[in-house]
Amino acid sequence: MIELPQRLLDDILAHAREREPEEACGLLGADTTPAGLQVAHVHRTRNVADQATIRFEVDPRDLLHVFTLEERGWEMGIYHSHPRSPAYPSVTDVGHARRWPGIYHLIVSLRQPQAPEVNAYRIEDDEIIPEPLRIVAD
Ligand SMILES: [Zn+2]
Repeated sequence: MIELPQRLLDDILAHAREREPEEACGLLGADTTPAGLQVAHVHRTRNVADQATIRFEVDPRDLLHVFTLEERGWEMGIYHSHPRSPAYPSVTDVGHARRWPGIYHLIVSLRQPQAPEVNAYRIEDDEIIPEPLRIVAD
């Protein structure tokens, strides 16, 4: 179970909308709770993928922020947006996740602009495992 405060979801959606038609991406930090994880931190990163409208690649320069997450004791995750496709990992996403074993992923979809979707997953050994996600009040 991952809890996501509404305020942080709003930050992620704002980033996703600013980057359209490209995918937005960023790092997440989460506190450990009895129920699982609660996202506590959203860090925007640049998307340096060649085809940024259909895939993402976190700018290596932004990866220094991973050390900040570790220092704060946060569990690292990655978020990215799908401007036109559902909030479900693409084949490319599954391949990409091999480089980030053991983390959680949030995907937001802007396919229906008035009703954005957000889902959480873990992707282990090319297997997509949906993770229950609850949006909580701040
Ligand atoms: Zn994707």
